[in-house]
Amino acid sequence: MIPHDYNPALDHARRLADTFLQELHLRRVTPEALPPAPMPPDDVGLDRTFALLASEVAPYLSASPGPRYLGFVTGGVTPEALAADWLASAWDQNLSSRIGSIAADLEDRTVAAYAGIFGLEPVMHGQFVSGATMANLVGMATARQWAYRVHGELPTVFAGSAHSSILKAMAITGIGRNRHVSIATLPGRTCVDTAALRVALAQHRGPAIVVASAGEVNTGDFDDLRGLADICAAAGAWLHVDGAFGLFAAFDDDLRSLVAGVERADSVTVDLHKWLNVPYDNALAFTRRPDLQKEVFAASSAYLGDDPDPLHYTPENSRRFRALPAWAVLAVRGRAGIGRWVAANCRQARALARGLEGLGLDVLNEVPLNIVAFALRGAGTAARDAFLQRLNGTGEVFMTPTHLHGRPAIRAAFSNWATADEDVPRILAAVARSISGDFAG
Ligand SMILES: *Cc1c(COP(=O)(O)O)cnc(C)c1O
Repeated sequence: MIPHDYNPALDHARRLADTFLQELHLRRVTPEALPPAPMPPDDVGLDRTFALLASEVAPYLSASPGPRYLGFVTGGVTPEALAADWLASAWDQNLSSRIGSIAADLEDRTVAAYAGIFGLEPVMHGQFVSGATMANLVGMATARQWAYRVHGELPTVFAGSAHSSILKAMAITGIGRNRHVSIATLPGRTCVDTAALRVALAQHRGPAIVVASAGEVNTGDFDDLRGLADICAAAGAWLHVDGAFGLFAAFDDDLRSLVAGVERADSVTVDLHKWLNVPYDNALAFTRRPDLQKEVFAASSAYLGDDPDPLHYTPENSRRFRALPAWAVLAVRGRAGIGRWVAANCRQARALARGLEGLGLDVLNEVPLNIVAFALRGAGTAARDAFLQRLNGTGEVFMTPTHLHGRPAIRAAFSNWATADEDVPRILAAVARSISGDFAG
C-alpha cells in the first residue's frame, strides 16, 4: 500500500458500515452478552485491524441507530447525514477559526436556516456544540454573566422539570446545584405550574433564571413558553428554553403551536443528534447576548485569531465541522421531509400508547409528542426492572426506566427517521410476551 492511498482503509470502513446498516433493522436491538473488548493490537496491519473490528466489535454493538431502539431520546443516521459526516472527517476543518476556509461561513448559514425553522429571530446568535448538555452550559454560563453584570450576584434557577444537564451546567458554571428551585408541575403533567412560578419569582430577591422545558424528557410535555416569557419579562428574569428534542415540533404544522413563545427566550438549546438524525455529536446553542457569551468564553492569545472567530463563544476551541451533516439533511429532505418523520414518530408513540392500554398497562402521560411513559399496575421497582429486563432481553426493542408521578415507570421515545408504523405491533408483541402473570392488569 502506498502511504497516501486512503482507499484500502475507506473500503474496509465502507464494507463494515454497510453490513452494520443493512442489518440494523434485522439484528437484536441489544446484544445478548458482551465479551470484553479487544485491546488495540500493536502494528498488525490494515486488513487484520479491520478484521478484528468486524469479528470482535461489530457483533456486540447496540442497534441504537435502528428503528426499534426507544431508549433515552436517540436518533439514527440518514444516509446523507452519514456521508456528510464522513466528509467532515475527510475535510478535517478546524472550526475554531474563520481564516482561510469557507467552513465557518457555511456553519453560520446552516445555523440561520435552522433558526428560521425553529422560529427564532435573527438576533439569536447560534453556535454548533457537541450536545444539548453543552448548549445548556452555554445558556447557563451566559445567564450567569448577565446576573453578574446586572445584579452583581449569582442567579437562582427556577424550573418545573429541569433536565439533569441543567444541574450539571449550574455546577460547572459556579452557580451551584443548590441554587435550583424546583417549582410545582401541573397535576398529572410535567409542565410547570405558571401560577406557582409567578409566586416564587415575586418572593425572590436577586437575579433569576427560568429554565423552560420544550419537550420534557419523561413525557414530551411542554411548558407554556408564552406564559413563561410574560412572567420573565415582568420579573426581569432570564428565560432559557431547553428544547433538545421538542423544538422539532416546529417542523410539523400540527405541532408547531407547542413551541410558540420560544422566540422570546434569552437562550435556547436544541439537539441535532436526536431528532434530526445526524450522527453524534451535534447540537445548537443559541443566546441573545453574544457580548456576554464572549465575556465567558473568549480565548485571547497572541497566536489565536480575533473576534468573530467561533472559538470565543463556546467551551471548545478546536472542533469539527458539525454543520455539514445538518446542512445535508436539510438539502436532501427539506423541511417537509424532516417534518414527515417527526409526525410519523408522534403517530407511532400514540399507537404504542393505545396498544399498551389494550394490554392492561397504565399509560402515564398524554403523549403530546414522541414519548410514552407507562407503568405496570401494582408493580414496584423490582417488578418493573424484571419486566424491563425480559422486554429488552427479547432483542426486539429497547426501552429505559424512569420514575413518574410517584410510580416506577418505563419510557419509550420514538425519534428515528426509519421507524415504520409496522414496528409498533412488533414492539407490542414483545411487551405482551414480557408481561408475567403476577402483575398483568
Ligand atoms: C438529551 C437531552 C439533554 C442532554 O443532551 P445531550 O445531547 O445528551 O448532551 C438535555 N435536555 C433534554 C431535554 C434532553 O432531552
